Amino acid sequence: MYSERPIHGGIYESRGDVLAVVHNHSPSVVPFSVTDTPLRPMFHLAALIGPELPVWDIRDNFQDTSLLVTTMEQGRDLARCLGDRRVSLMRGHGCVIAGKSIREVVMASVYLQVNAGLLLESLRLGEVKYLSPSEIELMSASQMRPTSQERAWEYWANRAGRPTGENGR
Ligand SMILES: [Zn+2]
Repeated sequence: MYSERPIHGGIYESRGDVLAVVHNHSPSVVPFSVTDTPLRPMFHLAALIGPELPVWDIRDNFQDTSLLVTTMEQGRDLARCLGDRRVSLMRGHGCVIAGKSIREVVMASVYLQVNAGLLLESLRLGEVKYLSPSEIELMSASQMRPTSQERAWEYWANRAGRPTGENGR
């Protein structure tokens, strides 16, 4: 069994709307979990990650640990930080993405990482223009359309060498 299953347990317990959870250690995302520079969407396909991403720090309530989320108390604490959002960063560790389907959380995970990489590049050049709240709302609605998710899922499934099947599964 994966030691960090309380990440998933804590979120499923607190969010009746969540049917899929991704946890990963994206190296592009981690820098934003340990600095004051916020990770916000500046690339249209990253609208799905939401306007503000909280950073959960396991040390706030559990002192020094391995940083792994191995107890339900820790999982619940992370779920509280996530609140009703789709994404939370985890200080010095990675991130968690919650949503209504595997396709949705995979799409948000991919573009969270892409946006983090683009933002790191952009910050080197100067001041960054982020997506506005309305742009985030409009683009998210477009990304949540089944056809948008089908197309992206098919592409990623093909890239991974997996058949998408009759229903794109
Ligand atoms: Zn982890």
